[in-house]
Amino acid sequence: MKVTKTTNSRISQANLENPAFGTQFSDHMLMCEYRNGSWEEPEIMPFGPISFTPALHTLHYGQALFEGQKAYFMKDGRVGIFRPDANAERLNHSARRMFMPEFPADWFVDGLKQLVSLDKEWIPKNEGCALYLRPFMFGSSEFVAARPSEKYTMCIITSPVGPYYAGDVKVKVEETYTRSASGGVGSTKCAGNYGGAFFATDQAKKEGYTQVIWTDHKNHELVEESGTMNVAFVINDTLITPPLSDRILAGITRDSILTLLRDNGLLKVEERPVSVTEVVQAARNGKLQEAFGMGTAAVVSQICTIGFRGEDFSIPVPKDGYAMKIKKQLTDIRMGDAEDKFNWMTILN
Ligand SMILES: *Cc1c(COP(=O)(O)O)cnc(C)c1O
Repeated sequence: MKVTKTTNSRISQANLENPAFGTQFSDHMLMCEYRNGSWEEPEIMPFGPISFTPALHTLHYGQALFEGQKAYFMKDGRVGIFRPDANAERLNHSARRMFMPEFPADWFVDGLKQLVSLDKEWIPKNEGCALYLRPFMFGSSEFVAARPSEKYTMCIITSPVGPYYAGDVKVKVEETYTRSASGGVGSTKCAGNYGGAFFATDQAKKEGYTQVIWTDHKNHELVEESGTMNVAFVINDTLITPPLSDRILAGITRDSILTLLRDNGLLKVEERPVSVTEVVQAARNGKLQEAFGMGTAAVVSQICTIGFRGEDFSIPVPKDGYAMKIKKQLTDIRMGDAEDKFNWMTILN
């Protein structure tokens, strides 16, 4: 891999004490071009503008996808990336569905490792902070015709981030708009899934909510996700979460939490369809012990209110409940405070 280091580091201007999410970018990025049916050699270079003509394919036809994951400074000074192989696998799942070329998983992991090593100084050290890694790929041919791009660009940028706390999350059960449908692209991290969701989220915000709970496209009866996170409910000391399907994004946080719980038994786990009726009834009867979203940015995000057809239901948000215990278990592995039983940390040497 070709590496061109910056001669003009911006690290002295960086805010690493209290970084906002996704607004500062480290000194380097990785770029790799797909031409004539194969990937060229990846290159690490100084972070900066890239230039294309307005005919850039992805701007017109939306072959664009991304990933999101984190690298951490561990307590003993080592640097670890959380489950990069899982992100590589998911990137290629998205690529297949979006008719884009798969990117070699070993290049992906190796590229991340080299990039993070080079910009190690950009990893914030305060509790809950991390270097957010943003790999993405887009169609980079320059023609306007409704057929797949012939060229593609793979890029990785990184950004120091603080503990992501969205405040008390009030969610509204969404019964009009749909994030994904059977046979669609809901299980991929394609860019358009986000573009298509902003309007519904904004409507919910205008009604005083933070996010929507997406329901199934057909009858809006089944709970699917909470905003851009997978969702879990605790009823009868059991964690209940919808099963994966082609409408649900297979979160790596979700998978890690289910794996931990099945191993340590903190909670029973049920992956099964969850209806809106079941959740609302449990909330009404005081049987909904906790509800939370699961995803890389916030790890676990407690839900304090569920709104359904104009009625708001309060849900406990205990500081020492299941959600926070689960969050700590994951954080301990990432910080090196607990045994990494499942080999989730890729350590840089
Ligand atoms: C990225 C994402 C998630 C969470 O995935 P993680 O790998 O846990 O970060 C959940 N739902 C949607 C729709 C997503 O895009």
